[in-house]
Amino acid sequence: MGDRKTVNMKKTRIPLIWVLGGLILLTLAVNSCATIPAEDAKDSEVVMDDIVPAEAAQDVSETEAGILLGFDDNYYAGWEAAFSLFDRYGAKVTFFVQGNPAFCLNALEKGHDIGYHTENHVDLRNVDRATWTYETLDSARALRESGVPLAAFAYPFGFSDPWMNEELLQHYAIIRGFGVTPRFYTKEEIASGVITSKSIDNTVIPDDAAFYEMIGELLQTVKAAGNLIVPLTTHNIDDGAQWGIRRDRLEFLLRTASEMGLRFYTYREVALGR
Ligand SMILES: [Zn+2]
Repeated sequence: MGDRKTVNMKKTRIPLIWVLGGLILLTLAVNSCATIPAEDAKDSEVVMDDIVPAEAAQDVSETEAGILLGFDDNYYAGWEAAFSLFDRYGAKVTFFVQGNPAFCLNALEKGHDIGYHTENHVDLRNVDRATWTYETLDSARALRESGVPLAAFAYPFGFSDPWMNEELLQHYAIIRGFGVTPRFYTKEEIASGVITSKSIDNTVIPDDAAFYEMIGELLQTVKAAGNLIVPLTTHNIDDGAQWGIRRDRLEFLLRTASEMGLRFYTYREVALGR
């Protein structure tokens, strides 16, 4: 995973504002909530690397620029209430669920994707092996048997130990972590297995102007590169949620991406091409 990150970061120049913003937001996140994004504390050296900009322009025709938007946990009602909003902008997204086959089948029918996020949202670093296997694999079986294909897995809180990726890649095509620093990937890099997705939760970016500016810059970066995808993650879709996104913010993201001609990818589509 360390190697992958280094390669990824060298392909894209990260504006200084994100580095500073990321550090500020990390501080906010650490101070504010139980769901602390796990990946960023150890990434600051990578982010500070001098990154070669010319490489991002290579190979532009390989894949379409786009976003990989995901929603974690079990906010089924809030998500369902946003189906019409997704439709308005032709957006396909991925829900990382903890069960609920009825919701999953409904979302799949609308063209969205379902990933798995364990049954009980435990910190997988701190459970015994039997619990680990139940949470990551055995508890997913009922969903799969009810007709929900699960191409991707997201770690609760973004917390993992290195051995887990290899184990889970035998059962899922893509394994996803969670952090506050934006990362950009080609389609091939995502399909090859392990990524980290940037939080766009309300609590991570409290200020509206900062949120709009950040979204604008992320989308412009993938658009300018032409072949990059930015994974973005939030939770509920609710105006009052800390760990979630306000409807107007979500609509801004969807509208801006749509107007820029960016593609809305699902995890399954990136992993399996469908
Ligand atoms: Zn979660």
